[in-house]
Amino acid sequence: MGTHSQDQTLSTRTHKNGHALVIGGSIAGLLAARVLTDYFDQVTIIDRDVFPETPTHRKGAPQSHHTHGLSGRGKVIIDALFPGIFADLRAVGADTIHDKVAMVMVSSFGMLAPFNVRESMRFSRYLLEWHLRERLVQRSDVQTLSNCEVTELLATSDHTRIVGVKLRERGLEGRRTTLTADFVVDASGRNSKTPQWLTALGYETPPVDSVNSGLGYASRFYEKPENFPDVWQGIFILPRPRQNPRAGTIAMIENNVWHVTLSGVAGHYPPTDEEGFLQWARDLPDPGLYESIRIAKPLTTIRGYRVLENHIRHYERLKRWPAGFIVLGDAVCALNPIRGQGMAAGAIGADTLNMCLREQQRLSRTTFEQHFQLQLARALTDPWLFALGEDLRWPDVTLHGARLPIGFELWQRYLDLVLQSAVQDPEISKAYMEVYGMLAPQSSLARPRILLRVLGATLKHMLIPSTLTTNNTGVLSAETLAQLHARPTRLIANTGETV
Ligand SMILES: Cc1cc2nc3c(=O)[nH]c(=O)nc-3n(C[C@H](O)[C@H](O)[C@H](O)COP(=O)(O)OP(=O)(O)OC[C@H]3O[C@@H](n4cnc5c(N)ncnc54)[C@H](O)[C@@H]3O)c2cc1C
Repeated sequence: MGTHSQDQTLSTRTHKNGHALVIGGSIAGLLAARVLTDYFDQVTIIDRDVFPETPTHRKGAPQSHHTHGLSGRGKVIIDALFPGIFADLRAVGADTIHDKVAMVMVSSFGMLAPFNVRESMRFSRYLLEWHLRERLVQRSDVQTLSNCEVTELLATSDHTRIVGVKLRERGLEGRRTTLTADFVVDASGRNSKTPQWLTALGYETPPVDSVNSGLGYASRFYEKPENFPDVWQGIFILPRPRQNPRAGTIAMIENNVWHVTLSGVAGHYPPTDEEGFLQWARDLPDPGLYESIRIAKPLTTIRGYRVLENHIRHYERLKRWPAGFIVLGDAVCALNPIRGQGMAAGAIGADTLNMCLREQQRLSRTTFEQHFQLQLARALTDPWLFALGEDLRWPDVTLHGARLPIGFELWQRYLDLVLQSAVQDPEISKAYMEVYGMLAPQSSLARPRILLRVLGATLKHMLIPSTLTTNNTGVLSAETLAQLHARPTRLIANTGETV
């Protein structure tokens, strides 16, 4: 299957030709495939899963049962790679607001001051993935092979270059075959087999930094209640280190549906039975989520999920690396899902690939693949450390592999001051949410204007503690809570999994 143009390695090619192959047809793989269509004349996406014909959950991406927010940076990259895709999502019902409050966040210090955004759109993960794939399969230069599992990398006899993959067709007969390519991308997710595949070819395994964050999810889709106050598009109640390990989110998706996820950190897992689910919601640090879902009609059963560990694999540190092969997406860096940054991290991988391939046309680096892994590692360090900072606030949650950077703990203290000041100051709140959305690095929170506001607010709170109290007491005002409280609890419907 396929041909491998030995004479056209990435360091010598000057124009679009050859065959690229992507392992994994999920968010990171689809975005990488789109980039590769600009540099190769054939792109094949291989996935062991069977892709659904309509936008819905699939076995190989079970995380779609749980809320997925696409952060700002991810949206910018996807919009550039697939112009008009967000208009397509809006046309099929993605919730869109203009000049209103999007996501409100409640931290240990209270609710961050809400602010209006020009536009915000929310949709389910499976709707986004389906539309990305549809755009690609309509192209004549993209082929998808589903129900096929990659079992090994195919290398030249001296193992210095990857020239394709070995496949096993899933199903009764499990036919084995090979597929050759000029360039192979592993985007097969957090359980990627690249470390084992590289070892089998005589390469080192990459150093791994991992954190045992012990995250548990329980999620359900609801119909948004009629006449629900139009105050936000979604809420996110964060856990409170050493006080309350419970977190919860309501996110509007398409067609008037709420996607609700309850989560717990550091080994505290939310229950998936009716009573336990509601009790977990009731025990959240803010009553707004419970009062909201209590009156909403459930559309599905409750689904659980556990992510025991998050990690970053340092492929950029390997001294030897085979030509014609790179790794990106969760296969490199599996961030704590509670931060909602994974899809954007996959998009950053595709964007980095685009930049490196464009540069390659001028520079013809012989070590293109190692250069890519290094650039990707640099781009992912800040989001990894940002997520890690939250994880390490919990006793028993520890980092394995690396040492923390100098000043890490001091920076966490400063972030506390940022969150505390953000409760009253929309400008600080906005600056924090830009970092959260990966639109700005963490260091942007130390730029003079924000630093001065944070220090000013902190000094004021120290001198006059009463200024710490605020009108932003929770995601719903006391009056709204009382109105919702007066509405009857929605009886549990016999859910037919309509979503
Ligand atoms: C519970 C949970 C909640 C999350 N919430 C958010 C959120 O709110 N926001 C956000 O941005 N991100 C979130 N994420 C992360 C997000 O889902 C991923 O980062 C995103 O899907 C990109 O991952 P990926 O494409 O690298 O890998 P995956 O999505 O894991 O996809 C890997 C693909 O590779 C295929 N595959 C695997 N092995 C093989 C093989 N050997 N051969 C062929 N195919 C193979 C699989 O079938 C799958 O399709 C969450 C994750 C979890 C688990």
